[in-house]
Formats: sequence, structure tokens, C-alpha cells
Amino acid sequence: NLPVVVIAGRPNVGKSTLFNRLVGRRQAIVSDMPGVTRDRKEGEALLRGRRVKLIDTAGLEEAAPDTLYGRMRASSESAVAMADLVLFCIDARSGITPADAHFASWLRRQNRPVLLIANKAEGQAGTNAALEAYSLGLGTPLALSAEHGEGIADLMGEIAERL
Ligand code: GDP
Ligand code: MG
Repeated sequence: NLPVVVIAGRPNVGKSTLFNRLVGRRQAIVSDMPGVTRDRKEGEALLRGRRVKLIDTAGLEEAAPDTLYGRMRASSESAVAMADLVLFCIDARSGITPADAHFASWLRRQNRPVLLIANKAEGQAGTNAALEAYSLGLGTPLALSAEHGEGIADLMGEIAERL
């Protein structure tokens, strides 16, 4: 039974990009999982010698409740419930949005270990947002760029340390 790492956050923050980045080097099989959220994808990643099961929460468009918050929650509820660690992503370029804050406050109440990620922080981009992200009450944000591969090695180390 591999430890389960769930990637969560509002749409468009780069969750799937991060998922692909983390599973990529292992060419993990990514398959649709049956269940409430048919778009949810899972794969395996090797992080600092530790094998983990990674879940990319998606399928917000398919989930039933018709508000963004409802969809985020429906998509993430079952995944977060089985998470050994949640990677909660924000977009450092757009800053903290009301949806991020809302989702973060829901996530805090789930009592799962959370690692806060400020994505799209290539170069110096997003330094302010990363600082702002402290206000989400989910600990110290880790700034990285899933698309450019910056900060990924640090992230892998952080994940491995927490499992
Ligand atoms: P998701 O909806 O959270 O799964 O987000 P996606 O992974 O589909 O990414 C949404 C958009 O953000 C895409 O256009 C990505 O190319 C872009 N993106 C993802 N990661 C980064 C990053 O690190 N930097 C920048 N600048 N763009 C990114
Ligand atoms: Mg996605």
C-alpha cells in the first residue's frame, strides 16, 4: 500500500502540470478512475527513492454541484479523505483568489497533512503571492514552477520527508 499524495486546488493553478512533472520520469500509467469524479487521474511517482501514489484531482466540470466551490469540493472530497499528504496548489502569478481562500479553509477542516505550493513561480515571479499565501493558514508555501521544473527537487524532498 503506497502512501497517497493528492494534488488539490482550484482550476488552472497547474495541478495536472505538476502531476505530469512528478510522474513523468517514471512513465507511470495514468488512467481514469471510476467513481464520482471520472476525470480523476492517478499514477505512481518515485520521490527520493520513495514510491508514492499520486492523485490529480480534476473533473470539476463533471461534478454535480453547480458552483465552483461545490465542484472543487465534490472533486476533492474522496481523494482528500484518503490522502496521506495533500499538495494544495495556488497560482503565484494571479495571487490568492477568493476560491483559493475558500478551498483552503475547507481543506484545513479535513485534518489531513497539507503542503502548500505556490506554482508558476519561475524566476522571481510570484514572490509576493508566496508570502501572501501564509495567510491561508496552511503553513509555509513552497514556491516552484511545475512547467519549468524549478523547485521540483525540493518538493520531492519535502514530500518524502513528510511521508
Ligand atoms: P489545473 O487545472 O490546475 O490542472 O492546471 P493545468 O496543469 O491544466 O495548467 C493550467 C495552465 O497553467 C496551463 O496553461 C499550464 O501550461 C499553465 N501552467 C502550469 N504550470 C505552470 C508554471 O509553472 N508556470 C506557468 N507560467 N504556467 C504554468
Ligand atoms: Mg487539471
